[in-house]
Order: sequence, then C-alpha cells, then structure tokens
Amino acid sequence: MFRRRVIFLLAVFGLFSVVLMARLAQVQLAWHDRFERARYTRTGGNRPVETVRGGIYTRWGTPLVREVPSFDLAVYYDRLPEREWKEPVARLTGRSLMQLEERAGQITRRVERIRRAVQRNTGMEHVRVVEQNEAHRVVANVPAEVAAAVRAAPERFPGVVVLESARREYPNGELAPHVVGQVGVMTPQRWEEVRSEGRAWTMAEPVSEIGARYRQDDRFGRSGVEREFESLLRGRRGYVINRLVFHILKVEEESTEEPPEPGLDVYLTLREDFQRAANEALRRAAEDEELEFRQGALVILDVRTGAVLAAATYPGYDAATYGQDIGGLASDPRSPLLYRPTGAALPSGSVYKIITAIAALEEGAVSPTTSLRCEGSATFQGRTFRCLARWGHGSLALVPAIEDSCNVYFYRAGLAAGGEALARWGRAFGLGAPTGVDLPFERAGQVPLANATFEVINLSIGQGRLLVTPLQVANMMAAIANGGRLNTPHFFSHASRPNGETVKVHQPRNQRIPVSAGTLDAVRQGMRRAVASGTARDAGLEPFQAAGKTGTAELGPSGLYHAWFAGYAPHSDPKVAFAVVNERTSGHGSSHAAPIIGYALEDIWDQVLELP
Ligand SMILES: [Zn+2]
Repeated sequence: MFRRRVIFLLAVFGLFSVVLMARLAQVQLAWHDRFERARYTRTGGNRPVETVRGGIYTRWGTPLVREVPSFDLAVYYDRLPEREWKEPVARLTGRSLMQLEERAGQITRRVERIRRAVQRNTGMEHVRVVEQNEAHRVVANVPAEVAAAVRAAPERFPGVVVLESARREYPNGELAPHVVGQVGVMTPQRWEEVRSEGRAWTMAEPVSEIGARYRQDDRFGRSGVEREFESLLRGRRGYVINRLVFHILKVEEESTEEPPEPGLDVYLTLREDFQRAANEALRRAAEDEELEFRQGALVILDVRTGAVLAAATYPGYDAATYGQDIGGLASDPRSPLLYRPTGAALPSGSVYKIITAIAALEEGAVSPTTSLRCEGSATFQGRTFRCLARWGHGSLALVPAIEDSCNVYFYRAGLAAGGEALARWGRAFGLGAPTGVDLPFERAGQVPLANATFEVINLSIGQGRLLVTPLQVANMMAAIANGGRLNTPHFFSHASRPNGETVKVHQPRNQRIPVSAGTLDAVRQGMRRAVASGTARDAGLEPFQAAGKTGTAELGPSGLYHAWFAGYAPHSDPKVAFAVVNERTSGHGSSHAAPIIGYALEDIWDQVLELP
C-alpha cells in the first residue's frame, strides 16, 4: 500500500514539474517576442482533442469493458474560498462542508506553490499562472444526474462547472476479468520506457505531434487484453491550433484542426454462454464438498481453430470492484489474481501417458497390438513402482492401457521409447513452451529431458519435473482431435471501429505435427474408452460422447494431488477440446476433475453441436 502511494506521489510530482517547465518556457518566449519582434504569433489557444479508448467484447458483443463518460465538479480558482458553492454542492453530492473545504485548501496550496516557483524563476513580482484562471476538480466521478442538475441551474452553483472525462466501466466484471486486464495510471518506470521509445509527448512539444503518443497523465493497459492490444484500443488524439497573427495594423486569427481517431473495439473469441458455463462449473465444484475444489482452471477450445471459447479460473474477482477489493485479493493464499489457464504451470500426472503412447508408437517401441504385462507393480534397477490396480491389469495392449491408465504398461512403453523421445513428443504437442497465446505473462512450463531410468519412468506417467499449463493441455488435446494440427490458441477475434466496420481480423497460425493418422487413431480410441468404460466412466461424460484422459499428480509428502481431466467431444466429430485442473485436492482426476467438465458441457451442449 505504502509503495503504491509513493509511486502515485512520484507520478503526480513529476506531472507538476512538467507543467512548471512548460509555463516557464511560455513566459520566456512571450517576453522574447514582445521585445524583439514587431510581428509575432501567439499560440495560447492550442489544445489536444481527446480520443476515446475502445471497448472489449465477447464474440457476439457482450461488453466486458467499455469507456463511459465521467463527470467531475470543478470550481474556478478564485472562488474556491467562497462559501456560496460549498453548501449546494455538499447537499447535492453528500460530501460534508469540511471535506469540500479541505479539498479547496489542497488546491489553493498547490497552485500557490506553482505561482511562487514561477515568481522566483522569472523575478516578476505580479505573476498570475494559468492555474489561477482554471476550474479545479473538487468532487470526482459524480452521477450523471448530479452533473445535469449543476448544468441546468448554474446560478445555484456559483463558480462550479462540470468537467467531462472518461473511465472504464465493467458491465460484466465477473465474466473474464483476468482476460480483460487492467488499465492504470502512468508509472515513472513506464514513462521512462515510453520516452526512450520516442512515444512520449510533453507540453514543450507542438500539439500537432500528440497523435498516439503518451502524456504523463495518460492511462495505459497494464495486463490482459488491455495490455496486449493497447495499440488498437488507445486511439489517436486530435488537436486544434489557434494562432493570433499580429501585423502592424491588424490581428488575424488562424485555426488548424485535426480530429481525433477513436480507439478500436476489440472482440474476443470468448463466448458469453461458454464462459458463463465454465465459471459456473468451477463455482459449482467449489460448493460440492466431495470434489474438494478450492482452486483451479477450466479451458474450452475450438478444436479446428484454437479459438479460446472459455477459459475460467477459480477463485476470481469482479473487475467492477477490483479497486476496493485489491487488498484482500492480493493477500488471499489461493491467489485469485493469478490467471490459471495460462499462469499455472503444474505437473499433469497421467494425462502425459497420451504423449508416452504417441512416442512409443511413433518410435516403433510398441505397436497398437503389442501386449505388455502388469502384475500390479514393476521393479526397475532394484526399485519397485506401483500400478493403481493392486493385483495388476494382466496382459494389455495400448488402447486398454489408456482406458484403465495402467502405470506399468506406460513405464515399459516409456522406457522402450526412451527419455529423449518422450520429451521430444511432449514438446511437439506444445507442452513445456509458451503457446504464443495473445495474452501477456504466459508461463512456459517445462518438459524435462529425462536421461536416468527413474526420470524416464517418472516422465512416462507425467510426474517429476514436468510442468504444463491448462491451456497447453487443452491445446494438445485439440491437436489430437483435429488430426495433428497444433494451433496457436488465441483470444482475439477481430477489431472494429465504433460504427461496426471491421478493420482487423485474427490471422490463424498453426503447424503440422509429424504424427501418423494410425497413432492418433489408437490414442483417440483409448481416450474414448476411458470415458465409456474406463477410469472416467462415473464422471457423467457419456451423454457428450466425450473422450479424455484422467491425471493425478502427486505433490510430494503433502498427501495432496493436482487432479486433471482433459480431452475432447464429441468423439465422432470433435468440436471442442478441454482441460480442467483441480489444484491441491485429496482425490484423483477421475473423481475430482472429470465431473467438472461435465457440469460445463451440460449447460452448453446444444451450442457445442452447432459449432461449425
Ligand atoms: Zn496396471
């Protein structure tokens, strides 16, 4: 809190010094002109014309954030000490007289400091600075009715004017607040960055150069889409230049105008119905005692395009009340500010068996008909590794090994394929590296290169140093479902002008994974059987003809797990790929993660089937 205040004060202080320098420059130039030249121009009427920042919308236009006018009440400097405006303003706004007096005092002291500094620097005794002619903000962000009341009866509010500016409004602040992100005031560090990039504008420079450059009191996108698409959202300021041209016998006024360009509206691939269903599924999981769900994520992708249809994180927050809630959010041990779909890098447990299966098939270590024997455990170099089935699965081939998630089968298949192939195929499916999604601060995770036997055994079932994000896992499932195309997942759909004209559309990016159709077919069969009759048979996913893989990553001696379920649906004509993770829970992927994707699909199944 203290640090934030210091930064704020620094920013404010920096702003004043800029104002001061500009003022000095003006005074000196004016003096120079008056004495040295018979004909001169004065540029006192120059001003930038504000632009409007674009909004951010879901795929079909539900507003997530938009710019709305903000009204402030301001009072002319010379009238600040008067009582005549304070009483009616206090009545209208609910502020106390004392608050208003305090505010007036602050402003007076500040302007007096500026005036004295100019006095000192110019040596002029009677200086009047511009601030003394201006109206100053005494009550910020009043309702539109209050602004209207003041404008309608100015005689009742002597010296008071309404100033209009803009602020961000979040009509659906709880829907996807992390994706939307925040705008913030310019920090000293950010200002330095902007200056070094030549994108800063100060009052010492011609107003005609302001355009898309930043002023020191500007806001900018600090996180999420607000940050990633800052250049589209922000727009360009315009300007008006009024010149008085003094000739020997007459004065002429010249005027130049450049209208502002409003920022573009950004439309996301997120669908309101899908995102609501995903949020609701996580909320419902949190209320279901059996699931022991305290934190986690759920991602739903379009298998063809990599468009993110829903990406929910839990716990979350409401962007509309973020400012008030920030203290509690920052100290919550469940990290509600973390966007888990791209920001949580965790071991995936047995979901990685799909990669082990692909590696073993592609490297020729096993064929779909190769049977390996599970006795409930297996011993390698004197150490015993267990299977979940205590008495063993007997002899089984790849499809039933995926169906029942037999550890021993995958230890043997992984060792036969080798550590290098296990890592290479994981990376080929986009694990352990940034997906390139269009959101800032994506975690890379890691696919370790396993050399030692025990490391290979660990990696073959997704344990050890493996770290993956829910988005990476969902994207890997999309690639399996769509025949081996690894898409770059994306949130951006298109950008439009305020009149609806689309000016920029997402450019799809993808790469083909060199995997055979037969290999994909075998793992898809295994995942289909995991839902129909295997590890996920009791998760309620059969109505969706889902295919998927459970995962349960052990968290050392804590006795807790990350429970995963990831896959796609429907099996015969895949439309969506998904991943859900229940972090730090006491149960397995089959019981503590798979039902959650069912909650979401239940709500949107008809819409899923309508996807192209
Ligand atoms: Zn087994």
